[in-house]
Amino acid sequence: MNIHEYQAKQLLKTYGAPVAEGVAITSADEAAAAAAKLPGPLYVVKSQIHAGGRGKGKFKELGPDSKGGVRLAKSIDEVVANAKEMLGNTLVTKQTGPAGKQVNRLYIEDGADIARELYLSILVDRSAGGVAFVVSTEGGMDIEAVAEETPDKIVTVNIDPVAGVTDTDVAKIQQALALEEPAKGEMATLARQLYKAFTEKDMSLLEINPLIVMENGHIRVLDAKVSFDGNAMFRHPEVAELRDLTEEDAKEIEASKYDLAYVALDGTIGCMVNGAGLAMATMDIIKLYGEEPANFLDVGGGASKEKVTAAFKIITADPNVKGILVNIFGGIMRCDVIAEGVIAAVKEVGLKVPLVVRLEGTNVAQGKALLDGSGLAITSADDLDDAAQKIVAAVK
Ligand code: GDP
Ligand code: MG
Repeated sequence: MNIHEYQAKQLLKTYGAPVAEGVAITSADEAAAAAAKLPGPLYVVKSQIHAGGRGKGKFKELGPDSKGGVRLAKSIDEVVANAKEMLGNTLVTKQTGPAGKQVNRLYIEDGADIARELYLSILVDRSAGGVAFVVSTEGGMDIEAVAEETPDKIVTVNIDPVAGVTDTDVAKIQQALALEEPAKGEMATLARQLYKAFTEKDMSLLEINPLIVMENGHIRVLDAKVSFDGNAMFRHPEVAELRDLTEEDAKEIEASKYDLAYVALDGTIGCMVNGAGLAMATMDIIKLYGEEPANFLDVGGGASKEKVTAAFKIITADPNVKGILVNIFGGIMRCDVIAEGVIAAVKEVGLKVPLVVRLEGTNVAQGKALLDGSGLAITSADDLDDAAQKIVAAVK
């Protein structure tokens, strides 16, 4: 689960992290009053969307000369003018994809005079089996390029889960970031505050890009991107409340109501599969035969007829879907239950695109018989290759 920058900063502030004063607004009418609460004379107007790269982004409606989604303003009037130009428009960044994201909220912040832009993140380092700090002197808007071109400028400091952040860890971070006082001492405190926030709140990523050293020598969290482990949200109702459903895919929200593991993708073939591994294999084989999957969908091991029907509805509601491939291995899940679900769903929502069904496993004969006797235009397939070839041919 992701949250907005302003929410992440409010959260980090409760752990003592140095963040600027700021006010979130949803209408340009609030911009002047929001800015008036800040000391000035420099303000920053920041688009709040769940995607990075805002500074270098462009608003679709403002054409190729559009200014970015993070703007400096030197007066309250400029804040208001920028707010009017940004709110309601669609920001396209490297991370949003070409469709972009509508900016419904701005964060008006006290501007800082920046001496250095650094990078600091905390993440779960799977290869090390623990939490790690990743830091670089090359913070700012191009950390992806740094990682690709000069990976030696990125330093990883692994944290022992029992010891927590030690003095040695802190020294490594301070050195990697080439910090001098007072920033150096402040970093020692900040590293521990951030680590505490990360572990206490079950974060999966905490990225501060940039962490800045200001002209006055102090450090500040200038940008903050936080993702939480969705499976731990039951422990943090106060965090779950920060969820912004308008930032999420409507189909994914619907799927989560039925406990379906669903991820929307850009292709044309809707997939309904049981088991994450089989779902991945199904997507791969669709690509192998020259088409793209429209989604990842794992209905799970013990899916009911209702779940299958819901899954089917979600797939058919996607206008990009030109064909559907149902690929079920009946282990715990019985093939006849799947067949009943598919038939019920088709009868309820209709079938406007080709449907190929591949069943294997428990009660496969009964399942196939149900499909064949349903009178519906369903193509059955015998194995993964056969199924993928049939659905790809059908959409082409
Ligand atoms: P992102 O583009 O989505 O990562 O948004 P950021 O919050 O990282 O802002 C992008 C860039 O805007 C930063 O790297 C800074 O260069 C600039 N910026 C943001 N806030 C300030 C500020 O308070 N003062 C100054 N001078 N620049 C800022
Ligand atoms: Mg940033």
